[in-house]
Amino acid sequence: MKYALVTGGSRGIGRAVCLKLAQMGYHILINYASNQTEAEKTLAAVREAGQDGELLPFNVMNRQQTRKAIEDWQEAHPDEYIEVLVNNAGICRDNLMVFMLEEDWDAVLQTTLGGFFNVTQPLLQPMLVHKFGRIINMASVSGEKGTPGQTNYSAAKGGIISATKALAQEVARKHVTVNAVAPGFIQTDMVANLDEASLKKMIPAGRLGKPEEVADLVGFLASPSADYITGEVISINGGLYT
Ligand code: NAP
Repeated sequence: MKYALVTGGSRGIGRAVCLKLAQMGYHILINYASNQTEAEKTLAAVREAGQDGELLPFNVMNRQQTRKAIEDWQEAHPDEYIEVLVNNAGICRDNLMVFMLEEDWDAVLQTTLGGFFNVTQPLLQPMLVHKFGRIINMASVSGEKGTPGQTNYSAAKGGIISATKALAQEVARKHVTVNAVAPGFIQTDMVANLDEASLKKMIPAGRLGKPEEVADLVGFLASPSADYITGEVISINGGLYT
């Protein structure tokens, strides 16, 4: 059995990634913070796709809780390891910097950057021992160009891009690849409150992206065909930023 862990797999892009990896034959560990109802819908969809999976709730911001959940899973599966990790969990708390609340700065960085460290570090050693692994980090166009009103989110996503490049060079010899995907505007709960008509005018492709389109890219990066791609940031944004 091959295992993949998707953080933030209960909704949006994460759910589509769970489905894609299930279609590729992976047993899916579906992480989420609190929304069990939606996580169960993801699990049902994984099963409909002919694979199985399990729910693995933990708050990626919380190092102790995250480490315990991963350790418990590993203890229950002593001969297995998680070979694909998709660090997808993310939040935004937008505001102009002058008005930004301290807690909104902390929460966004702690989810994306803290979450990356908390989840990736314990899974890295087994990947190195087995001499195979795939780590795919969900960045954003905001981490590439910087978006006003999102200094916290841009900093977090810019940080994850640099972390991707650094870690990729540390582990390439052990056949572990580390890449980032940088979506533009994708139709999920995260953008539900934005004005779609004005967004479409900004995007050269004239539409928002679909979670499944991002999931297909993640699936490719997880596949054997992407063995020689590492340390890359691949944009998927309909031409919004090139
Ligand atoms: P979404 O629909 O808001 O879903 C967010 C997911 O992350 C949910 O599964 C949520 O779990 C989980 N999550 C949030 N905080 C968490 C935490 N502390 N611990 C564990 N899980 C947590 O978001 P999305 O649009 O699919 O975004 C997914 C990723 O893509 C994020 O990293 C986001 O920054 C990035 N992204 C999105 C867009 C876009 O336009 N949508 C563009 C660029 C990048 P619960 O269901 O339990 O809350």
